[in-house]
Amino acid sequence: MKVVYSEAHHRHAPETELTREGYTPYFECPQRADTILLTLRETPGFQIISPSVHPPELLLQVHDPGYLHFLENIYPAWVKAGEPASGVVPVTFAQGGRCPADLVNQTGYYCFDTTPIVAGTYEAALEAARCALSAADLVLGGEKAVYALCRPPGHHAARALCGGYCYLNNAALAATRLGGRVALLDIDYHHGNGTQEVFYSSGQVLFLSLHADPNYAYPFFWGYADEGGAGKGEGYTHNLPLPAGTGDQPYLQALDQALALIQRFGPDYLVLSAGFDLLAGDPLGDFSVSLEGLKRIGERLAGLRLPALVVQEGGYQLRHLGRAAVNLLGAFT
Ligand SMILES: [Zn+2]
Repeated sequence: MKVVYSEAHHRHAPETELTREGYTPYFECPQRADTILLTLRETPGFQIISPSVHPPELLLQVHDPGYLHFLENIYPAWVKAGEPASGVVPVTFAQGGRCPADLVNQTGYYCFDTTPIVAGTYEAALEAARCALSAADLVLGGEKAVYALCRPPGHHAARALCGGYCYLNNAALAATRLGGRVALLDIDYHHGNGTQEVFYSSGQVLFLSLHADPNYAYPFFWGYADEGGAGKGEGYTHNLPLPAGTGDQPYLQALDQALALIQRFGPDYLVLSAGFDLLAGDPLGDFSVSLEGLKRIGERLAGLRLPALVVQEGGYQLRHLGRAAVNLLGAFT
């Protein structure tokens, strides 16, 4: 199985994040991708390759031009304005208001939480997007399954919003690149609010998400069961919120519901937003899915026999991430 990966993710390494406990070490750290890469290098059946460069116009198929301009230019403008070099972090939020002319003042317009933007964030996010786009090109070229080892992740990034450690929506970009009918399944512990927003009015992309109930879990404001799409996309979004403590059996039952919906849709491709924070013991989750359960998940997804593109999202338990990737991807190799 081909794995598309770029070292550029190291450029994005914020030191801290703002949590309810104050400033704490940044969970979405470079070691996450490093440990997955190391394990895949040691496991037969995986071939690591570098992404290609794509025309910047491809980003505009998913993201807003003003937002892309902000992401690319905000850090130097922020530092030049005398703001802290540790990272761009909003303290006011637009809540549907208007976009101000000054770049620094746009921060709360284009961010929905306090996820920081540091010196190398745009470069790393762009390279992660290239990994996903290159994986899509490989699938279009006939590969049965490809894994995009993306970092930073993407599923919380909306058309014109960053947040939840995400800046560019890698999975949405890959699904758009594939074209045709795409089933995009998100198994990250957190709801993929950005991906949902991008495809909410689309009947081409079936979006399904299994995640912790937003009544108690991040991102809180999206991911409820009655969000089902709008306009041409009505009936093409499916949210399956799950309770705290969800283990292998109830998880696999919910997955089977999603798989039935995918089969009824009859897609040309499967895009999987794979977050390993669904595993028991994750510091940012509270499900109790086992590594063995993740293997079952991979087997059922591979059983769809669709050309598949797996995109890395969250997962913060460093010691299990490598094994998690092998267990999920094993059935596809
Ligand atoms: Zn997550």
